[in-house]
Amino acid sequence: MSQKPYLSVVIPVYNEEKNIKPLLESLDNALKGIGKTFEVIIVDDGSQDKTLSILKELKPRYPWLKIIALRKNFGQSAAFTAGIDHAQGEVIVTMDGDLQNDPRDIPKLLAKIEEGYDVVSGWRKDRKDPFLSRKLPSMMANALISRLTRVKLHDYGCSLKAYRAEVIKGVTIYGELHRFIPVLVSFSGARITEIEVTHHPRKFGKSKYGISRTYRVLLDLFLMIFFRKFATKPLHMFGLTGGLLFLAGFGIELYLTILKFFYGQDIGQRPLLILGVLLIVTGINLVGTGLLAELVMRTYYESSGKRIYSVREVIK
Ligand code: UDP
Ligand code: MG
Repeated sequence: MSQKPYLSVVIPVYNEEKNIKPLLESLDNALKGIGKTFEVIIVDDGSQDKTLSILKELKPRYPWLKIIALRKNFGQSAAFTAGIDHAQGEVIVTMDGDLQNDPRDIPKLLAKIEEGYDVVSGWRKDRKDPFLSRKLPSMMANALISRLTRVKLHDYGCSLKAYRAEVIKGVTIYGELHRFIPVLVSFSGARITEIEVTHHPRKFGKSKYGISRTYRVLLDLFLMIFFRKFATKPLHMFGLTGGLLFLAGFGIELYLTILKFFYGQDIGQRPLLILGVLLIVTGINLVGTGLLAELVMRTYYESSGKRIYSVREVIK
């Protein structure tokens, strides 16, 4: 491509053969009129059906289309990352390729980016998915995530989101963390907002996830809380608790020693003795973990050239 487009739309697809044709048509209709240059990057995440061949067949009709075919199924997060790595736009919009998100919402997302936000997240207010297996667990997860990460959104799971390229290019989306991109970028101070978007029921193909996803999302949430609090000063957390435990244990053992030597009491049978030992050992362990975590953290920042701050602009 000669000139860089303003907008890159990144869409991962895995075994979506029936959705490709209508997807490309709806993108074409929605994006033709937005008055911005754009590209659409469809990442085929190792589909075993005809997804890739249909994409290649339709490619000549759509000059804005780029196809990235991954060697095997790496998962939705990896597919997003591949697409984002190849995206050239100033603004990157991510969405699903199963026709559940609607490209007609893209201009609304772009308008919010123009207002100055770094991230605009879609909120599927009227979500068209099964209640028990999807909407209920996701409602609970969303409430919890919003409380614990302090990034106030209603719907983390919605793939339809827009990002200013510079804030998203820097994050690696390990595992299934694509749901947490707003949280990840909030660590470096991104301005985040959300808007309501339309959601459609899945017409063709089936969902790639089951109910076990809820549990995995909770684990990821735990990781996010850890990152938010301790990514740059782990010794403070581990050292503080460890130190307190050690002191409590030390106090207990001191007390028992005094009983033994000054009052001649037998202390061998006392449960307190074991508690004290346990507290001392745990305390030392925690402080040690904190020191190790400091080393790991330094290696992380220094090896990747990451900084512990993020600059919005420099005014000279
Ligand atoms: N997807 C993918 N790789 C995977 C699983 C899913 O690229 O390993 C794509 C899938 O084709 C779809 C999007 O990610 O475009 C969302 O998946 P799905 O519709 O199954 O999730 P749900 O809407 O049920 O949350
Ligand atoms: Mg879907």
